[in-house]
Amino acid sequence: MTDFDPKKLNKNWTIEDSISKYGIDKWGEKYFSINSDGNISISPNRRSKKKVDLFKLVKEFKTREINTPLIIRFNDILKDRITELNNAFSKAIETYDYKNIYQGVFPIKCNQQKNILEKIIEYGDRWNFGLEVGSKSELLIGLSILENQKSLLICNGYKDKNYIEIAILARKLGKQPIIVIEQRDEVQRIIEAVKDLKATPILGIRSKLSSKSSGRWGKSVGDNSKFGLSIPEIMVTIKELKEANLINEMMLLHFHVGSQISDISVIKDALQEASQIFVELSKLGAPMKYIDVGGGLGIDFDGTKTSSNTSTNYSLQNYANDVIATVKDSCEVNNIQHPIIISESGRAIISHCSVLIFNILGTSHVSSQVKISDQKKQSLIITNLIETLNQLKNLRDKKRDLSEIIELWNDAKKFKEDCLVAFRLGFICLEERAYAEELTWTCAKEIANQLENEEIIHPDLSEITDTLASTYYANLSVFKSIPDTWAINQVFPIIPIHRHLEEPFCKGNFADLTCDSDGKLNNFIDNGKIKSLLNLHPPEKNNDYLIGIFMAGAYQEALGNFHNLFGNTNVIHIDINEDNSYKIKNIIKENSKSEILELLDYSSDNLVESIRVNTESAINNKTLTIQEARKLIDQIETSLRKSSYLSE
Ligand SMILES: *Cc1c(COP(=O)(O)O)cnc(C)c1O
Repeated sequence: MTDFDPKKLNKNWTIEDSISKYGIDKWGEKYFSINSDGNISISPNRRSKKKVDLFKLVKEFKTREINTPLIIRFNDILKDRITELNNAFSKAIETYDYKNIYQGVFPIKCNQQKNILEKIIEYGDRWNFGLEVGSKSELLIGLSILENQKSLLICNGYKDKNYIEIAILARKLGKQPIIVIEQRDEVQRIIEAVKDLKATPILGIRSKLSSKSSGRWGKSVGDNSKFGLSIPEIMVTIKELKEANLINEMMLLHFHVGSQISDISVIKDALQEASQIFVELSKLGAPMKYIDVGGGLGIDFDGTKTSSNTSTNYSLQNYANDVIATVKDSCEVNNIQHPIIISESGRAIISHCSVLIFNILGTSHVSSQVKISDQKKQSLIITNLIETLNQLKNLRDKKRDLSEIIELWNDAKKFKEDCLVAFRLGFICLEERAYAEELTWTCAKEIANQLENEEIIHPDLSEITDTLASTYYANLSVFKSIPDTWAINQVFPIIPIHRHLEEPFCKGNFADLTCDSDGKLNNFIDNGKIKSLLNLHPPEKNNDYLIGIFMAGAYQEALGNFHNLFGNTNVIHIDINEDNSYKIKNIIKENSKSEILELLDYSSDNLVESIRVNTESAINNKTLTIQEARKLIDQIETSLRKSSYLSE
């Protein structure tokens, strides 16, 4: 970035500066840090001394021709998250002398990838960790991969007869499916299925709660929420189950107050209400054995530990303590046995282990180094702008007066607007308009160089930073790899994975490969605040500039789409070894273009053939030589086999 004033460069920039700028120590849960080479390193857990250099890792993948964009999944981190969740509940159970166990399940919808689910089942086996499914396809996955007969298979979502019958029969395989009634009409279908199959399921009921929620998914609770039964509906359901002789199978109460609950008080209220419903269901004669507190356990994306949308004002341990203590209180008062506690924590388990890495293809920024030409005949607007720039330059060595600078900047903006009007009316030519724009940007640059960053935040000067910001072109599709940034403005930690010994003095944001103007990243964490621009380094010729998006393991892959036909990226699963080396466990290759086209019913062969037919006509018409035709077909055939992303 040539037009940066090197005088402002901080030669003493240290790793610590980078850590506090990007907040890694705050959101990274000790999994992520910066090593002495200035690269991001990954630790398997907070106790371990083992570390893997993320930048070197990606470089080594490149030599294996596994290119960016790619997702790296750290199995060790996944294992640690499952361990921490179970340990937190064990600790809470001990602290509160709770008389039953915690037995969690992973909600498959958070990330359905086979490798991930297999790992979750493997790591969770010690605690008989189970799965939660929300559709028939997920049920089939759950049935096929969950071998542990003690683990629970919580069956949520809309259920037709087929779903219900599969779940009931699965019990005969020795599995433990629990059918959670979410809709009133499911009750009749269950009763019929039981009659037809002469077999009984374990039943649960999902309750709507009236407790207020907050955050993005706040509306998923309350009387009008999409799922669950209202209290009157629960009463009718219990009556019907009694009549059908099924009340003895009703053992579970479930609720879910939405995802990423930021405020612990919301969780507490919901828990209190649900515990009371649990007690009442017992009193109505159901042999209640489980309370399933759903998902919602949030993670601290911005590291502020607050109840903001991107953070949580509680820790994992606080959460476990509140669940255990609240349920215990209600049961004690009413002399009811403590139930097994189930949580369906998805985001909290799966977010940290995935890092998405992409490379930068180039940058663009306004040109703010105009050469002043001494033309006699130039329009008044240009003369005015040159005069403004000179006045700004004259302030350089004087005692700084902010109001003077603001006045000159307002002048420059006014002249630029005049210039646009003049152009529209045909009074100035394209060349003059370009010159005027460059002069305005040069004024902006001059001001930025004279002022401290804090002064540029002044409302009258605030657009200077935006004007001078660079766009970094990312080899990535936001829609495929990180769709929540687009769909719900979700903020993820995004930072370069190397060069932390250098000051990141450029302000920029990212534009992706799609032709969609929404395909951009412009929410960043900067010293604990959300900003629209990120501090970045100027890309170097012949060297990759690599950026990581962290804590992106939940929901993104399942929600990603094929906008502009960018496909799945490479995915690599890594184990970290004792000696700080690593072992590649699985590589899931990215989609080739022909795979993507086939998803949309195109056949690569037909596609090549139809273009070949075209080349034959062109050869006949002598607009194309045979060699050119060969070359075109070769290029197309090669391209079809390769990645949908850009290569070097
Ligand atoms: C989505 C969902 C979850 C997972 O929620 P997280 O906030 O990701 O833990 C759990 N239970 C149900 C019923 C869900 O719909």
